[in-house]
Amino acid sequence: MCENHEGARHGPAYPAFDECVRFHGHSCPGLATGYRVAIAAMKALSVNRPFDEELVCVAETDACGVDAVQVVTGCTAGKGNLVIRDWGKHAFSFFSRDSGKAVRVLVKNSHIPGRSAMDDLRRKVFSGTATPEETARFHAMMAETTRSLLSVPESDLLEIRELAEKPPEKARIFASVVCEACGEPVADARTRVVRGRRVCIPCSLAGESPERP
Ligand SMILES: [Zn+2]
Ligand SMILES: [Zn+2]
Repeated sequence: MCENHEGARHGPAYPAFDECVRFHGHSCPGLATGYRVAIAAMKALSVNRPFDEELVCVAETDACGVDAVQVVTGCTAGKGNLVIRDWGKHAFSFFSRDSGKAVRVLVKNSHIPGRSAMDDLRRKVFSGTATPEETARFHAMMAETTRSLLSVPESDLLEIRELAEKPPEKARIFASVVCEACGEPVADARTRVVRGRRVCIPCSLAGESPERP
């Protein structure tokens, strides 16, 4: 599916929606929403795509939109400047370390037309009880919703509010130690002490009453 018009409209500073689709594996409403969130946040904070950790994102969901946020903002799980606190909310906070400014972007759900019909179809499609016609209708509705999410006015889709909070601490480089139970190298800060032995989390779960070091 080709939906790169949004990226073109916002200029070359932002990756096209197609790049997010390539990264995510499919085009979907959640990805489109994350794309709008990411661009809105960068505009609100006047930042371009960072190369290191000057922009930090705290995502309150682990759904599809997080992938668009990673592609567009450069806040990624691996760099440590993407923190996922999965509270099941379509809300994302962004902190600019350079300016000290921060915003929380909340996705308002109200605008999506035919949402309940689409949810009914989704249940059928994913439980394998949908007819081929229903499956086709579901995918057509998903594509239409994705398109409308990419073009709806920002203020209809998102609520952006400034935050006074400080960003979470910078990603730390953890010293590596060896788990005394399984013998595998593990980041020191992720170990637990179980009966006097420093072990990794899986080993601590297999043991009894682990204590934090
Ligand atoms: Zn998706
Ligand atoms: Zn272990």
